[in-house]
Amino acid sequence: SAAERSTHVVLMACPGTGHVLPVAELARRVVEVDGFTATLVRFTNFSSGDQYSATFASLPPSVSTALLPEVSIEDLPADSRAETRIIAVVKRALPHLRDLLQSLVDAPAGVAAFVPDLFCPWALEVAAELGIPGYIFCPSNLMALSTVLHTPELDRTTTCEFRDLPDLIRLPGCVPLHGADLLDDRANPAYALIVDLAKLYLLAQGFLVNTFDAMEHETIVAFKDLSDKGVYPPAYAVGPFIRASSDNSSKHSSLRWLDDQPDGSVLYVCFGSGGTLSTEQTSELAAGLEASGQRFLWVVQFPSDNDKCASFFGGGRGDGDSPINYLPEGFTERTEGTGLAVPLWAPQVEILSHRAVGGFVSHCGWNSTLEAVAAGVPTIAWPLYAEQRMNAKMLSERAGMSLWPKAREDGIVTRDEVETAARELMTGKKGVAARKKARELREEMEKGLAPEGASRKAFEDVAGRWKAAGNGTAA
Ligand code: UDP
Repeated sequence: SAAERSTHVVLMACPGTGHVLPVAELARRVVEVDGFTATLVRFTNFSSGDQYSATFASLPPSVSTALLPEVSIEDLPADSRAETRIIAVVKRALPHLRDLLQSLVDAPAGVAAFVPDLFCPWALEVAAELGIPGYIFCPSNLMALSTVLHTPELDRTTTCEFRDLPDLIRLPGCVPLHGADLLDDRANPAYALIVDLAKLYLLAQGFLVNTFDAMEHETIVAFKDLSDKGVYPPAYAVGPFIRASSDNSSKHSSLRWLDDQPDGSVLYVCFGSGGTLSTEQTSELAAGLEASGQRFLWVVQFPSDNDKCASFFGGGRGDGDSPINYLPEGFTERTEGTGLAVPLWAPQVEILSHRAVGGFVSHCGWNSTLEAVAAGVPTIAWPLYAEQRMNAKMLSERAGMSLWPKAREDGIVTRDEVETAARELMTGKKGVAARKKARELREEMEKGLAPEGASRKAFEDVAGRWKAAGNGTAA
């Protein structure tokens, strides 16, 4: 009967580790609800696969996966931004998505809701044609979503580059932002795409946001007011979705090294799956870490002098080359015993929750931030691209769990700044205060996810809507 039929939710993750991983966790959460099943749709482009395989292997059988075929984007200019490339893939794969959704609608389970992530709102038009309620999953925070939603208005009412706007941008409930924290370069094709994307968001029945009340209380309250007035679809603060640490028997070398370090003594350094430093910045960071005398574990990428997210597209060099070869001469030898440099990738969730880790130099990617909170580890904010400057501002000025070292005029964070920040976070008063904040946030986060917690209730609310929609189509 219709009442016993499962509620089937289709989720879609655009390319990129920071999208695929939280959407996989969202799928896990969906099928924890009685009577729910999920299909997770991914793209072939930019998904080398190995970084996700463990996560996908661990998904319950009630989560099916579907892969859209590869599309060509070879005609895009070589210097296209990550957003431009990702969105091109999403748009060009829409015919494949339409076929897939059609076949799922025709199957016995039907589709109660379709939830693509933030770079995929074009897919909402396809869902609407097929009569499927569409939602957007935002793997970042509500302030970032609020700024994106505000972009069409800024676009309409201003003509200069946002960084030249004289006044602070004050969005309801958000930390005041500088124009420089937002999109730059109106002439870049990525700009028009983001404006379009923001307009399409209004087609959504709601936003599922990977955030939680204690992190963004004011923003959540202000957004509710706007959506009650019909300005925006409602936002559900259902997060955080964090990858569970895997009990992988083959322990990564970095974890074995951490086992030999004292409690809370190691500064973990990682700029996410895409974050990339210039050659000069790499040596300044190395020199600063060394001078600080702090223990460190650094996930090193190949340097790039013209792209802060080169690693996202595999900024790698020839076979057999390692980014460790690009560290300053003698650095690894001089820091042996107190520091470890790991090439390209390390099991971050496991590292952050290791007792030896006491601080985190982070690019402020939202998943990394949530993982730091879940481990109660304070950070040194080192934003590089996307919404990371906003996140840095929120974390240092509002949440209080981060120190944000100043960059020089040319954007370089000098060795002296690194040395001071590293010492302060690990041994200074500000570090103590930031650690306390991070631990308080962890506690609040856990309360939010517990029965009767705000995140749990927000999720039950949206799941209830999906269930009703599923029964509705069956009736
Ligand atoms: N990550 C990891 N090991 C690494 C680099 C990244 O496990 O060496 C994971 C990290 O735990 C997080 C995700 O990759 O879950 C990165 O997402 P985030 O939003 O922080 O940054 P992005 O990579 O999207 O810039």
